[in-house]
Amino acid sequence: MSHQRPENQRQYNFSAGPAVLPLPVLQKAQAELLCLPGIGASVMEVSHRSKAFEPIIEGAEANVRSLLRVPDNYRVLFLQGGALLQFGMIPMNLLGGKAADYVVTGSWTSKAASEAKIIGKTNVIWNGKDVFYKRKPTSSELKFNADAAYAYICSNETIEGVQYQDFPDTGSVPLVCDASSDIFCKPVDITQFGLYFACAQKNVGPAGVTLVIIRDDLVERSPEKLPSLLHYKKIAEQKSMLNTPPCFAIYMVKLVTEWLMDDMGGLEKVYAFNKEKAALLYDVIDNSNGYYKGHADKEYRSIMNVPFRLPSEELDKKFESEAKSAGLIMLSGHRSVGGLRASIYNAMPREGVVALCNFMLDFVKKNG
Ligand SMILES: *Cc1c(COP(=O)(O)O)cnc(C)c1O
Repeated sequence: MSHQRPENQRQYNFSAGPAVLPLPVLQKAQAELLCLPGIGASVMEVSHRSKAFEPIIEGAEANVRSLLRVPDNYRVLFLQGGALLQFGMIPMNLLGGKAADYVVTGSWTSKAASEAKIIGKTNVIWNGKDVFYKRKPTSSELKFNADAAYAYICSNETIEGVQYQDFPDTGSVPLVCDASSDIFCKPVDITQFGLYFACAQKNVGPAGVTLVIIRDDLVERSPEKLPSLLHYKKIAEQKSMLNTPPCFAIYMVKLVTEWLMDDMGGLEKVYAFNKEKAALLYDVIDNSNGYYKGHADKEYRSIMNVPFRLPSEELDKKFESEAKSAGLIMLSGHRSVGGLRASIYNAMPREGVVALCNFMLDFVKKNG
């Protein structure tokens, strides 16, 4: 294949998560790693209750509020335990003895529904398993229970590459959304949701922190008998500082959100940038005479995660290994579904997508 890159050079990284971070963010973190300006120590070496850390967590929250236009009647929490802990905390805090509706559109909602079942009653009101998780339901297919504690969706199924374009109207039932792999990829109206959450390691920062944006009336639902660290209300009252928060990860969230606002120019521009990148890649897939096959149905396919296959598993493997030699790394599909997957989050530069497209076109010529 083309030239080998030196060992220590950054490659175009299509990992689904933990995923590529913006280079200017990594550079800033590197520059400040030994010593935060004016503090005399690293962000990893100071008290979370110090004057040094206070503006970091407050700045991160302010940036999240500004980017997503989060109204005042929502709390922004920085938690640990990843998205998976939210799969449990959501029913623990919100069920209140009732049942919740789950819309299962892929691996992550399937996992969320089974975790919730450990805690209480769930109704899977739509399951995309029979359509191989290639699409989300249409609004006419969804019948929410009026007395449900909440309704649960995932805005972007990271493994299957299926993304909601607009969200179902659940009336007075609060809508809960796992946005782990598409938060900040475009503007979103937060008021559609009662709770909107995302682990950081796809589109927000490093692993170790999870963003939870929760409406005040849902914060009030936390039952008395829950350990403090699983209790939204107690966490909200202490501004995510019930105990030591993941300080470094929160610092990185502050840098990434700053980058989204200052360098990228806000979420409208980020959306245009992401749509264009995704279109480049899907065009190559669509114009390959079936050589490359995408997973999701066209109307529902994701602008963040693009799973695809070649005509055989041997070719999938050959593609992946030659792509790696060409500086295009982490392209293997999720272990549960195989094939290939290109994750093209906010931090993936356009040049990375162009390089992948060119590689794909070249690969068909040689192996088609
Ligand atoms: C990655 C991912 C998860 C799991 O996140 P963890 O932080 O590893 O628990 C859940 N939901 C979605 C949509 C994801 O992309």
